[in-house]
Amino acid sequence: MFHFELDVHTHTIASGHAYSTLGEMVNAASRRGLKILGVTEHAEGVPGTCSYLYFSNYSVVPRHQAGVDLLLGVELNILDYEGTLSMPERLMNQMELRIAGIHKFCYVPGTKEQNTDAIVNAMKSGWVDIVSHPDDGSVPLDYDIVTDAAKEYDVLLELNNNSLAHPQARPNVRENNLEMLGLCKRKGIKILVSSDAHHESQVGIVDNCLTLLDEVGFPLDLIVNTDAEAFLRHLEKKHAGTKLPNLYPHTHERQVEK
Ligand SMILES: [Zn+2]
Ligand SMILES: [Zn+2]
Repeated sequence: MFHFELDVHTHTIASGHAYSTLGEMVNAASRRGLKILGVTEHAEGVPGTCSYLYFSNYSVVPRHQAGVDLLLGVELNILDYEGTLSMPERLMNQMELRIAGIHKFCYVPGTKEQNTDAIVNAMKSGWVDIVSHPDDGSVPLDYDIVTDAAKEYDVLLELNNNSLAHPQARPNVRENNLEMLGLCKRKGIKILVSSDAHHESQVGIVDNCLTLLDEVGFPLDLIVNTDAEAFLRHLEKKHAGTKLPNLYPHTHERQVEK
């Protein structure tokens, strides 16, 4: 039985091209029985997103709402082949979740080798918990190297439902994800499944990912979403030494609508 306990890559209206409020996203997560919701607004570089002030004021938001534990973080942009991230370190240090991905608003696609360097260097920096949608054929990657680096630097690779639901936006998304999943399965590397929701209706909905995981026969114990505690342990390890308010929530029982 697949227990989908956490969806930690989502966006609210603050990201500029998403359409639900934080409250609406939390309520959707609660209705769908999630233990943890992660909201990771786009960092500067994606047009119309929020400013540093939005990220620096996260402390005003209660982290336990409607029976859901809320993590507030960022989806960083990987800006170049050196893996430069689009947020000052002092602000990254305050983020409870740090996802990093390539967005072509602020990245010039290079050769397969250069794009792979970009991702690997970002992972190597130590700031990145999760690499988002490493599946875009217009930014080709060497998946053998990327999966090895994910293991070495303890970074989760994401299987992104949005990418699979809109294959026209990212060429070869299915083939690339199949290759990545095959390598992760063979090497015993854990992955994260995300909705990348930009509207409340998508929170916790990862049907396209589940179909692909089923097709590959991907082992459940390599999917961190099945175990909220294991995911929090991953974050604790990555964020060791940082001082954050309310950093690691305690998951708790509550009633879920059927
Ligand atoms: Zn977005
Ligand atoms: Zn993204």
